[in-house]
Amino acid sequence: MEKQNVFHETRREANAVAWMLPPPVKEAIDRLEGAGFAAYAVGGCVRDWLLGAAPHDYDICTAASPSEMQRVFAGERTIETGLKHGTLTVILRQMSIEITTFRQDGEYLDGRHPETVTFTRRVEDDLARRDFTINAMAYSPARGLADPFDGRGDCARGLIRCVGQPEKRFGEDALRILRALRFSARLGFPIEENTAAALRAGRGMLGRISRERIAAEMNGLLLGSHAGEILTAYAEVIDAALNGGGQIDWAAAAPAVDGVPLDGAVRWAALLAGAKGRHADILKALKMPNRLTNDVDALIAWGDALLTADKMQYALMKLGAENAKRLIALQAALDPRQAGETARALQARLDQLLREDACCTLGQLAVNGRDLAALGLRGPAIGQTLNRLLEGVTWGRWPNEKEALLKEAGQ
Ligand code: ATP
Ligand code: MG
Repeated sequence: MEKQNVFHETRREANAVAWMLPPPVKEAIDRLEGAGFAAYAVGGCVRDWLLGAAPHDYDICTAASPSEMQRVFAGERTIETGLKHGTLTVILRQMSIEITTFRQDGEYLDGRHPETVTFTRRVEDDLARRDFTINAMAYSPARGLADPFDGRGDCARGLIRCVGQPEKRFGEDALRILRALRFSARLGFPIEENTAAALRAGRGMLGRISRERIAAEMNGLLLGSHAGEILTAYAEVIDAALNGGGQIDWAAAAPAVDGVPLDGAVRWAALLAGAKGRHADILKALKMPNRLTNDVDALIAWGDALLTADKMQYALMKLGAENAKRLIALQAALDPRQAGETARALQARLDQLLREDACCTLGQLAVNGRDLAALGLRGPAIGQTLNRLLEGVTWGRWPNEKEALLKEAGQ
């Protein structure tokens, strides 16, 4: 049988990519090609380019072995962190570029990593180990597009489809289950039927994946502009990923997530608002950064108390500016009464307080500990009184003026 030609090239595309590639990336490819080694931009950058989006980074793959790459880039600054796996980072004109030898994965036994990795001279072999057709394309200005799995067709159709047999691919590496959901949530592409069935069936394997990797994929998924659709359609898979997300009320969570801005803390809060009490455990189990866990906790701890313009200064004291803003968005998404005009009025009130530098911290209070000591207060009473005074100021009970506060403190 005649060998299938995997290259589809049009001059227009070749020129467009040559024009799009940042000069250092183009230079790296040219230098490898000049030394006789095939070299391509590969993966996410090719996908994003075909979809008309700006790639956020560029990976290069090449027929050159690691030592051959080192020879080609002798004299340049290089970082050898991934050399064993075929990756050399080259710094050209301040841009760091990851270049990886074409690889073929050996058998997967642990459900995440191949036992062996072997180098190959064929780009098709390297593309075959990649997860989804839209991620399994490589482009070289000189050679055109290598696309053996019709990634370009799936970009045009808008489909997430496994390279090869879905059951096998998810069995090799269960992280791909969440990667499929993340790309779907980000791009708004549905997941092809067989791929979808296999990832549902394989969700039990998510237990093998490290919590940090799950957290990173979940963050990406929640920041997708189509996150709500995915949460609704694949609730049982997310349940398995969160390992105890069982308490989440999906019918409420999905629209809430879509209703808040693309910000990690407020999206997690929207997802977990209905799982109060369990939310901190879920985030801690994922080893989320403390900052995020604390922000989500503060938003959920606020509970159902509806924000009003009157309460805004108190909310600002309790939550800080960033979380107060998130709370306005969260309540608008969870409760129609807080949406639209109400949300805009609340935001206007918050903006006004910030502009006026309204008192919302002890440091802004018109009295300090020394003032209270001069009144005869001692020890913990000083801190307690300062806090009581601050709270009264934020409620509007008394003005933030020294005389008024001292009078209040003395009573
Ligand atoms: P992003 O824009 O999110 O960075 P990306 O496609 O570049 O998307 P990366 O995680 O940076 O995603 O991975 C780069 C490429 O490596 C992918 O496009 C894909 O070809 C391949 N890849 C990454 N992770 C896997 C995996 N778990 N299994 C198979 N191939 C993978
Ligand atoms: Mg990438």
